[in-house]
Amino acid sequence: MEKPHFSALNQAPAAHRRDDVWARVCCEQAWLSQQECCYPVGAVLVNSAEELVCCGRNQVFEGGYHSHRHAEMEVLTQLEADFPTLPREELTLYVSLEPCLMCFGRILLAGIKRVRYLTPDALGGFTQGFHFLPPVWRELHQRASFEQAYVDTFWSDLAQQLVSRNANEMREKTTAAWQGKLPDH
Ligand SMILES: [Zn+2]
Repeated sequence: MEKPHFSALNQAPAAHRRDDVWARVCCEQAWLSQQECCYPVGAVLVNSAEELVCCGRNQVFEGGYHSHRHAEMEVLTQLEADFPTLPREELTLYVSLEPCLMCFGRILLAGIKRVRYLTPDALGGFTQGFHFLPPVWRELHQRASFEQAYVDTFWSDLAQQLVSRNANEMREKTTAAWQGKLPDH
Protein backbone atom coordinates (compact mmCIF):
# COMPACT_ATOMS: atom_id res chain seq x y z
CA MET A 1 0.00 0.00 0.00
CA GLU A 2 2.95 2.36 0.54
CA LYS A 3 4.55 1.15 -2.68
CA PRO A 4 4.10 4.43 -4.59
CA HIS A 5 6.64 6.16 -2.40
CA PHE A 6 9.12 3.33 -2.64
CA SER A 7 8.72 3.52 -6.40
CA ALA A 8 9.27 7.25 -6.27
CA LEU A 9 12.57 6.82 -4.49
CA ASN A 10 13.65 4.18 -6.98
CA GLN A 11 12.95 6.63 -9.80
CA ALA A 12 14.96 9.43 -8.23
CA PRO A 13 17.26 11.34 -10.57
CA ALA A 14 21.02 11.22 -10.05
CA ALA A 15 22.21 13.91 -7.65
CA HIS A 16 23.09 17.03 -9.65
CA ARG A 17 22.21 19.91 -7.35
CA ARG A 18 24.09 20.82 -4.18
CA ASP A 19 21.58 19.42 -1.68
CA ASP A 20 20.17 16.45 -3.62
CA VAL A 21 21.98 13.76 -1.62
CA TRP A 22 20.66 15.09 1.69
CA ALA A 23 17.22 15.56 0.20
CA ARG A 24 17.15 11.86 -0.50
CA VAL A 25 18.05 11.03 3.11
CA CYS A 26 15.31 13.39 4.36
CA CYS A 27 12.71 11.81 2.07
CA GLU A 28 13.73 8.29 3.04
CA GLN A 29 13.37 9.23 6.69
CA ALA A 30 10.01 10.86 5.97
CA TRP A 31 8.86 7.71 4.25
CA LEU A 32 9.87 5.66 7.30
CA SER A 33 7.77 8.00 9.47
CA GLN A 34 4.84 7.28 7.23
CA GLN A 35 5.38 3.53 7.67
CA GLU A 36 5.22 4.12 11.42
CA CYS A 37 1.92 6.00 11.05
CA CYS A 38 3.55 9.30 11.99
CA TYR A 39 3.67 12.64 10.17
CA PRO A 40 6.04 12.07 7.21
CA VAL A 41 8.92 14.42 7.89
CA GLY A 42 12.63 13.52 7.91
CA ALA A 43 15.78 15.41 8.86
CA VAL A 44 19.54 15.02 8.75
CA LEU A 45 22.48 16.90 10.27
CA VAL A 46 25.55 17.29 8.09
CA ASN A 47 28.99 18.62 9.00
CA SER A 48 31.20 21.00 7.01
CA ALA A 49 32.97 18.04 5.36
CA GLU A 50 29.57 17.01 3.94
CA GLU A 51 29.43 13.99 6.24
CA LEU A 52 26.26 12.73 7.88
CA VAL A 53 26.26 13.34 11.65
CA CYS A 54 22.84 11.92 12.46
CA CYS A 55 19.39 11.62 10.97
CA GLY A 56 15.89 11.25 12.34
CA ARG A 57 12.20 11.43 11.61
CA ASN A 58 8.90 12.39 13.09
CA GLN A 59 7.93 9.95 15.83
CA VAL A 60 5.02 11.79 17.40
CA PHE A 61 2.79 8.70 17.37
CA GLU A 62 5.50 6.12 18.10
CA GLY A 63 4.18 4.16 21.08
CA GLY A 64 1.69 6.81 22.22
CA TYR A 65 1.57 10.55 21.61
CA HIS A 66 4.73 12.65 22.01
CA SER A 67 3.98 16.19 20.89
CA HIS A 68 7.67 17.18 20.75
CA ARG A 69 9.01 14.35 18.62
CA HIS A 70 9.23 16.23 15.33
CA ALA A 71 12.05 15.23 12.97
CA GLU A 72 14.21 18.26 13.81
CA MET A 73 13.78 17.67 17.55
CA GLU A 74 14.83 14.03 17.19
CA VAL A 75 17.99 15.01 15.33
CA LEU A 76 18.92 17.76 17.79
CA THR A 77 18.34 15.45 20.76
CA GLN A 78 20.71 12.91 19.17
CA LEU A 79 23.26 15.64 18.52
CA GLU A 80 23.25 16.81 22.12
CA ALA A 81 23.40 13.26 23.50
CA ASP A 82 26.00 11.78 21.16
CA PHE A 83 28.08 14.72 19.90
CA PRO A 84 28.23 17.28 22.71
CA THR A 85 31.66 18.61 21.67
CA LEU A 86 30.89 19.15 18.00
CA PRO A 87 30.94 22.87 17.08
CA ARG A 88 27.41 23.77 16.07
CA GLU A 89 28.34 26.50 13.57
CA GLU A 90 29.81 23.82 11.28
CA LEU A 91 26.52 21.98 10.96
CA THR A 92 23.69 22.18 8.46
CA LEU A 93 20.27 20.83 9.31
CA TYR A 94 18.32 19.53 6.33
CA VAL A 95 14.65 18.79 6.81
CA SER A 96 11.96 17.71 4.36
CA LEU A 97 9.42 20.31 5.54
CA GLU A 98 9.83 23.92 6.66
CA PRO A 99 10.26 23.95 10.47
CA CYS A 100 7.30 24.76 12.71
CA LEU A 101 7.29 27.27 15.57
CA MET A 102 8.46 24.71 18.15
CA CYS A 103 11.34 23.40 16.05
CA PHE A 104 12.33 26.90 14.94
CA GLY A 105 12.90 27.82 18.60
CA ARG A 106 14.78 24.61 19.39
CA ILE A 107 17.03 25.04 16.36
CA LEU A 108 18.01 28.53 17.53
CA LEU A 109 18.64 27.37 21.11
CA ALA A 110 20.69 24.41 19.86
CA GLY A 111 23.08 26.81 18.08
CA ILE A 112 22.41 25.56 14.55
CA LYS A 113 23.13 28.30 12.02
CA ARG A 114 22.17 26.75 8.70
CA VAL A 115 18.81 25.17 7.96
CA ARG A 116 17.72 23.99 4.53
CA TYR A 117 14.22 22.65 3.98
CA LEU A 118 12.91 20.86 0.91
CA THR A 119 9.43 22.31 0.76
CA PRO A 120 7.68 25.28 2.41
CA ASP A 121 4.83 24.69 4.86
CA ALA A 122 2.27 27.39 4.10
CA LEU A 123 0.08 26.36 7.02
CA GLY A 124 2.58 25.57 9.78
CA GLY A 125 6.04 26.84 8.77
CA PHE A 126 7.60 29.54 10.92
CA THR A 127 10.68 30.67 9.02
CA GLN A 128 8.90 33.83 7.85
CA GLY A 129 7.48 34.52 11.32
CA PHE A 130 10.65 35.95 12.87
CA HIS A 131 9.23 39.50 12.78
CA PHE A 132 7.04 38.51 15.71
CA LEU A 133 9.88 37.28 17.91
CA PRO A 134 10.89 38.98 21.18
CA PRO A 135 14.27 40.79 21.00
CA VAL A 136 16.57 38.04 22.26
CA TRP A 137 15.03 35.50 19.93
CA ARG A 138 15.27 37.94 17.04
CA GLU A 139 18.96 38.33 17.80
CA LEU A 140 19.42 34.56 17.80
CA HIS A 141 17.59 34.38 14.50
CA GLN A 142 19.88 36.99 12.92
CA ARG A 143 22.80 34.58 13.29
CA ALA A 144 20.96 31.79 11.52
CA SER A 145 19.91 31.20 7.94
CA PHE A 146 16.74 29.35 7.03
CA GLU A 147 16.36 28.75 3.30
CA GLN A 148 14.80 26.36 0.87
CA ALA A 149 17.33 23.69 -0.13
CA TYR A 150 18.90 23.74 -3.59
CA VAL A 151 17.48 20.52 -4.96
CA ASP A 152 15.94 18.96 -8.03
CA THR A 153 12.18 19.61 -8.01
CA PHE A 154 11.74 15.85 -7.77
CA TRP A 155 12.75 16.10 -4.09
CA SER A 156 10.74 19.18 -3.14
CA ASP A 157 7.70 17.66 -4.88
CA LEU A 158 8.18 14.33 -3.11
CA ALA A 159 8.56 15.99 0.30
CA GLN A 160 5.32 17.89 -0.35
CA GLN A 161 3.47 14.79 -1.57
CA LEU A 162 4.52 12.89 1.54
CA VAL A 163 3.07 15.43 3.98
CA SER A 164 -0.01 16.18 1.88
CA ARG A 165 -1.00 12.58 1.57
CA ASN A 166 -2.12 11.97 5.14
CA ALA A 167 -2.39 15.51 6.52
CA ASN A 168 -6.05 15.13 7.46
CA GLU A 169 -5.44 11.78 9.13
CA MET A 170 -2.59 13.27 11.17
CA ARG A 171 -4.72 16.21 12.27
CA GLU A 172 -7.46 13.85 13.38
CA LYS A 173 -5.00 11.67 15.29
CA THR A 174 -3.55 14.69 17.05
CA THR A 175 -6.97 16.00 18.05
CA ALA A 176 -7.91 12.55 19.32
CA ALA A 177 -4.67 12.34 21.32
CA TRP A 178 -5.51 15.64 23.02
CA GLN A 179 -8.70 13.95 24.18
CA GLY A 180 -6.75 11.03 25.58
CA LYS A 181 -7.51 8.71 22.67
CA LEU A 182 -4.25 7.10 21.66
CA PRO A 183 -3.67 5.30 18.36
CA ASP A 184 -4.01 1.54 18.75
CA HIS A 185 -1.32 0.43 16.30
ZN1 LIG B 1 8.38 20.99 14.24
